[in-house]
Amino acid sequence: MPTNYRKRRRPHGPSKSELRAARNERAGLQKERADTLSQRFPQVGRIELDLRLEAPIGGATLDHVQRVIDAEGPLDLQVSCPSSCHNGRFSLLETVEDLLNSSKEKFQGMATCQMASYADPRTPCGTKLFYQISIQYKGE
Ligand SMILES: [Zn+2]
Repeated sequence: MPTNYRKRRRPHGPSKSELRAARNERAGLQKERADTLSQRFPQVGRIELDLRLEAPIGGATLDHVQRVIDAEGPLDLQVSCPSSCHNGRFSLLETVEDLLNSSKEKFQGMATCQMASYADPRTPCGTKLFYQISIQYKGE
């Protein structure tokens, strides 16, 4: 019977310390990824974005979305270009930082996708992003 006893005692799956290490690793990854609004800008309660993407030629609206970023939500200020440039990206992070530095609440602006166009790689994609930013500060 001693052989049976030994078999039952053999641990199945990862040990407790291995599980703990995996859990810590996951928590660490999450911490790095989740840059929430309140972590980055503790004075801000909420950011509202109105984003309209317009075709470079003809001016057709390609996409029009509202995005709300709550204090505990991830701070996502990237907008993907919907045109055929495939990986064009707009970032409103610097604009939002400027607004916060000057305590502004509203801003309207326009950005142009600078990624090489699919049709002609020598010219930029040119898709336009019209954006409105509304910032609600805490304690108002
Ligand atoms: Zn583009």
